[in-house]
Amino acid sequence: MAYRREDIERVRDATDLVELVAEVTKVRRSGRSVMAVCPFHQEKTPSMSVDAARGLYHCFGCGKSGDLFRFIQDTQAVDFSDAVELLARRSGVTLHEDAEASQRRDRRQILVDATTLAVGFFHDSLKTGSDAGGARGYLRSRGYDGTVVDRFAIGYSPPHGEALVGYLRRRKVPEDVMVTAGLAVRARTGKVFDRFRGRVMFPIYDVRGDAVGFGARLLEGGEGPKYLNSPETPIYHKSSLLYGLNWAKSEIVRGGHSVVVEGYTDVIGLHLAGMPVAVATCGTALGEEHLDLLRRFSEKVVLMFDADEAGTNASLRGFERSVPGDLDLRVAVLPQGRDPADVVAAGETDLLRAAIDASSPLLQFRLERLLEGFTLSEPEARGRAVRAAAEVVARHPDAVARHEYAVLVSRRTGVELEVVVKSIEAAVSGQQKTRPAAPRGAQPLQGVEKAERELLRLMLANDPGVRRHDLSGVFSRDDHRAAHELLVPVLAALDPGVPPDLGSLLGDDDSEVAVMLRGLAFLESPLSSADEVVRKVQVGALERRIEEVRRQVESLSPQSEAYTDGFEELIALERRRRQLASQE
Ligand SMILES: [Zn+2]
Repeated sequence: MAYRREDIERVRDATDLVELVAEVTKVRRSGRSVMAVCPFHQEKTPSMSVDAARGLYHCFGCGKSGDLFRFIQDTQAVDFSDAVELLARRSGVTLHEDAEASQRRDRRQILVDATTLAVGFFHDSLKTGSDAGGARGYLRSRGYDGTVVDRFAIGYSPPHGEALVGYLRRRKVPEDVMVTAGLAVRARTGKVFDRFRGRVMFPIYDVRGDAVGFGARLLEGGEGPKYLNSPETPIYHKSSLLYGLNWAKSEIVRGGHSVVVEGYTDVIGLHLAGMPVAVATCGTALGEEHLDLLRRFSEKVVLMFDADEAGTNASLRGFERSVPGDLDLRVAVLPQGRDPADVVAAGETDLLRAAIDASSPLLQFRLERLLEGFTLSEPEARGRAVRAAAEVVARHPDAVARHEYAVLVSRRTGVELEVVVKSIEAAVSGQQKTRPAAPRGAQPLQGVEKAERELLRLMLANDPGVRRHDLSGVFSRDDHRAAHELLVPVLAALDPGVPPDLGSLLGDDDSEVAVMLRGLAFLESPLSSADEVVRKVQVGALERRIEEVRRQVESLSPQSEAYTDGFEELIALERRRRQLASQE
């Protein structure tokens, strides 16, 4: 259930965060500041600061932070609305339902429920299906017994195309839901069929533990790609999903690090080996969103590769630039040709621990690989090696760390430290000159662009306040314009306030715009007032137009007619901008 914003704020005002924290852990007050022993990681001396005035807490040990609702969610393992209900009871605030927000949540829940039914169906098919012998044999060959199969809810999708569809139909799941959840595909004839057939099914859960999709492995003799994953859906976003994180997150916080491996069976292998801190991406390369997600639980992230992959893994290369300074990204290398699943199956779990213990920072790892490529006995090669290494080291944001790496390069190459340091300094200033501006998508949006996103969110809710305005031409970004153009005809066919059916609108469209819209639709934060957001966006559009006209006018001769026209337009635009801005 979703509740009205005002009620939630009343609960917030009525609750003393310090009191709340003190109920579960030791709190020490000194003057105005309050420190608590962090309940999220093991410690004796308090490192969690509680700011009662702002209603926030932050742990300097493990990095956990949030407000009262987040605190309850994390200490009691409940979701947001449970936390609101619990605190409302505690403070005597009466809650009222927010019907619109509930509807959005319900849409998500319907897809999660259908996926959960599929998990159960595949699991039963594996255990009891007469056609699942091959799948059971494969799992036995991996060393998985019934306990493992149950623990990871592993399943089997029967090979004929209507097993799951038939089951879901009997459970009254509409066909559109099956298709939107990525469980079924619709043929040209309109008939729906199972997406996954004759495969071993690994259910994929989001960080909260909701079933959102599948990784499906081909069996010997089957056809198609070895692994088939769920398509992008409103609940399955591969760029921000990590297989295993739902099981691993608390141990990652406790143990202080996560391990990223390549595949589902590697994750399971590490869990079985007593290292339940492993996660894997789901059919995509590790990206910044994955790292952001992991960083919420621990800043130390170990990437585990076998020696071959690590040597050639080009995907590592992109990270040095993007990894934020507070992320300790390390590389652990397994012997050539071995992956974690094999190592565990062979009973050599010590090898995994040794590799993690011997892991080195990503940059150091890259440097060592780089230097291996040079014949360091030759003076020219040493020169080239130092210059190449300097380019890599120069990307590190911290000067102290750069110096440490200079020492390493000097030692490896035999080139004097002073020379290496100079070379790095030259590379740093060279990179500063040539460094392009950060890509737009990588940073949180600000100002007008942020308001445009919010406006799209209002459109997704078909907010009546937005429909009053003509918004053609007000968006500054191509993706926002495209989203607006997509939504306008859809909304025109609906009564104001009735949100469009995103499932049928976007289907399994994988485009950037579709992904953005789905992300926006599932944002939980309350919507801003339509008039306010529209005004901000319009002011932004006016400012861009003013700038454009001003540039035109400046390039014209003051005697020309165009100059006068432009000048008049400029004055009219300025007047309009002032009017809009004064409504603030
Ligand atoms: Zn902590």
